[in-house]
Amino acid sequence: MFQTKTRRVVLKSKEEIALMRQAGKIVALALDEIRRHTKPGVTTGELDRIAEDALKRHNAIPVFKGYPNQREGGPPFPKTITACINEELVHGIPSDSRVLREGDIFSVDCGAYYKGWVGDAATTIPVGQISAEAQRLLAVTEQALYEGISQGRLGGQTEDISAAVQDYAERHGYSVVREYTGHGVGRNMHEDPQVPNFGQRGRGMRLKMGMTIALEPMVNMGTWKTKLLNDYWTVVTEDGKLSAHFEHSFAITDGEPYILTLL
Ligand code: MG
Ligand code: MG
Repeated sequence: MFQTKTRRVVLKSKEEIALMRQAGKIVALALDEIRRHTKPGVTTGELDRIAEDALKRHNAIPVFKGYPNQREGGPPFPKTITACINEELVHGIPSDSRVLREGDIFSVDCGAYYKGWVGDAATTIPVGQISAEAQRLLAVTEQALYEGISQGRLGGQTEDISAAVQDYAERHGYSVVREYTGHGVGRNMHEDPQVPNFGQRGRGMRLKMGMTIALEPMVNMGTWKTKLLNDYWTVVTEDGKLSAHFEHSFAITDGEPYILTLL
């Protein structure tokens, strides 16, 4: 979510990565609780409170609450999670008047600070029974995330990750959002490098041991183009078609990429 703010890459030590794993685990636990409470009739406001309680129970605090708006005159983000339904793709504001309905897809993004480190992850959850087309969109978007992460190795470059995400999504007939990208993560939610969900192999920043990246494909059924709603936060697809969002934070190691936000 959001744009990268700091213009530097901060490499993390093994000890720091271990702390980021704890922050990431707490985010995973919160998302798991949300998943278990997601059903027709529940509001996104209720799910937001469940997430905030989960973070508190684990001595973590929300990163998104109070996050400054990137747009002139826009208010800071007021809640713990971002909650998006169907054509909403990122930055939706949870509300007690937004009710989930059978057949919706619900995208939730959550960030937590723990001992000074950020965990950042997102997932799209089916509400009750969803259409076969929607199921396929979710499966492809999640796999696109893993295709990207699998390129996160020494010797590679950031756009190898981007290209893997884009190729996988487009091969399945979908488009990838351009304006919102993956990013470095650490003591700040947004650090360099920026990692878009589109790109060309062999380009971008060289991957280094101790880089920590939040990769977050947003994959659309129709056009990749988006628009911003009047609340200055909620982003929707321009054509009103469905969008899915999956995100993990992971570290570049001397071997396999190490996913920090798994359960
Ligand atoms: Mg993120
Ligand atoms: Mg996120």
